[in-house]
Amino acid sequence: MNAETIKKIAKDCGADLVGIASIDRFKEVPGPENPSAIKPDTKSVIVLGFRILRGALQGIENGTSWGTYSGCDPTGFSNYMQEVTYNFCRQVENDGYETVPLVRCSYDLRNQGVPVSPDRPAPDVIIDMEYAAFAAGLGEMGDGKFFLTPQFGPRQVFSAVLTDLELEPDPVFSGSLCDHCGACAAACPACALDEKCLVESTYPAGTLKHWKLRVESCRVCTTGTWPRPYSLGLEPNRTGAACGRACVKHLEAKK
Ligand code: SF4
Ligand code: SF4
Repeated sequence: MNAETIKKIAKDCGADLVGIASIDRFKEVPGPENPSAIKPDTKSVIVLGFRILRGALQGIENGTSWGTYSGCDPTGFSNYMQEVTYNFCRQVENDGYETVPLVRCSYDLRNQGVPVSPDRPAPDVIIDMEYAAFAAGLGEMGDGKFFLTPQFGPRQVFSAVLTDLELEPDPVFSGSLCDHCGACAAACPACALDEKCLVESTYPAGTLKHWKLRVESCRVCTTGTWPRPYSLGLEPNRTGAACGRACVKHLEAKK
């Protein structure tokens, strides 16, 4: 089983995007978000991407329906995403390797449990899905704090699979999808994106940068977010909000 066959299997199962990161790209990532703290023999982190349908944003743009977008939020189509990820894992395990499937979880669930030993982080260990997607070469972080891919701009969500199967990693994305146009910030009625303040997170595979986001405004935003009222550890999904749709429109116009 090599990188090419893995990607074919993932796509045949129903993923839109597949990227591979080697575990060394997580070497200095802190324990509570490090894949090796979940599965110590992890050699590769495979990231699967699932598009948020373009048409699902039309309801918001036309003022006709909000329900379609909620159906495309991770909470709405998570059954599909989990099923595809699970079926992909089954096929890898059929070949004799182990897999641990992960979907995006609230970061405030980290460190809630009791460590199994003093040298281990407390469960739950929750990986940063955006960094995993970046490390797997799928795209980059845009200024508006959206993960952008060449295929779908900000319109996707990710799952990840940890495996002991050693695979050729994809190169880290070296293009530049975000052109710092400012359309996302300009579209926000609450001025929640601060273009003067760049937040940088440095990882082994590179630095993720975005403008500072006042997430409290996003939690009460009425322009089309899909809020997650029960979890303050996850930011609302902003793809359908004014900021996200401005980015979608801007990137589409450039094609
Ligand atoms: S979600 Fe709403 S408040 Fe937050 S940045 Fe986007 S438009 Fe502004
Ligand atoms: S709208 Fe422009 S500045 Fe904002 S994330 Fe998209 S490309 Fe970057």
